[in-house]
Amino acid sequence: MMTEHGAWLPTECPVASDEEIDRVAEFLARGRVLVLTGAGCSTESGIPDYRGPITRLRPRTPLTWQAFADDLELRRRYWARSFVGWSSFRDARPCAAHRALVALESASIVQMLLTQNVDGLHERAGHQAHLELHGSLWRATCPDCGHVIERNELQEILARRNPEWARCGRRALMAPDGDADVDGGGLTDFALAPCPSCGGDRLKPGVVMFGESVPHAVREASLAALSDCAGLLVVGSSLSVYSGFRYVQRAAQQRIPACLVNIGLPVRGGELFSLRVDGRAGDVLVRAARRVGAIDSLDIGHHRVGHARYPSNTRAPG
Ligand code: NAD
Ligand code: ZN
Repeated sequence: MMTEHGAWLPTECPVASDEEIDRVAEFLARGRVLVLTGAGCSTESGIPDYRGPITRLRPRTPLTWQAFADDLELRRRYWARSFVGWSSFRDARPCAAHRALVALESASIVQMLLTQNVDGLHERAGHQAHLELHGSLWRATCPDCGHVIERNELQEILARRNPEWARCGRRALMAPDGDADVDGGGLTDFALAPCPSCGGDRLKPGVVMFGESVPHAVREASLAALSDCAGLLVVGSSLSVYSGFRYVQRAAQQRIPACLVNIGLPVRGGELFSLRVDGRAGDVLVRAARRVGAIDSLDIGHHRVGHARYPSNTRAPG
């Protein structure tokens, strides 16, 4: 369903009151904010989340690393769906929420951003200090030799190996993992791309799959950022995934105040937040950023808060 806010949100979203925006602005004005974003930060860019008001009704089978590694047919199905879904995912643009966070970084209010998202949209919006906890779909990696390949390059190789798929320009409803809900048979006939370095057939998306862990260095850097912040702002996450929830738990243990901006409450650990706002990330963040003077234009679309560019992590692993 396409609404004025994007394809994955209800027509009627809750709208935060001016008093709530004042409270978010007070929270931000204290500075040294660490932001944790989830899939809800990108729904207004047209990328579906997992557990939003509409998407939670969609059947979904999470892909585990072990199943992916062991099952050739599953890998064929994954890459066939990813091949079809890639162009929509690749063409998604940062939304008002991403741009408001860049403005808050430029105003030295946000000092670090952690994202559970794998879409590269924070970087594309111009955000500087950020860590991708779950990696990025802009690259694929070989688990056997460590080779890294840009996703766009892989798309070209897959198109050459599957000319009939490329020719028929199959399109389907976008799915949350940069893939698409492709119907019909033939998925297991999809030809995989061999690893350009070792020739193996287990290239995987450059993301942390279920059953894998956040890389040690990323986890350490993110926990250090948490210890160094004065407030934790969570945007658009159900916190169902522990690797995101851990920051909220730790913040509570370290008596760091936490604020949640999310459509649909409660979320996991909701009681750990001193401030919870039920509203669209794009609306709440833009209004709060304006209130603290981080955005002076009336329309963030006209506020130059960085230049659009392709994620640098398309070239090298993080
Ligand atoms: P989730 O789907 O579990 O939760 C998203 C939450 O955001 C929901 O509570 C939803 O109601 C809320 N929401 C949706 N749109 C919103 C908006 N515009 N403003 C405010 N709130 C909004 O997502 P999660 O907690 O991030 O966990 C999902 C996991 O799946 C993550 O680990 C992530 O790696 C991955 N994922 C990533 C993407 C992406 O990169 N864009 C998309 C889907 C899933
Ligand atoms: Zn390899």
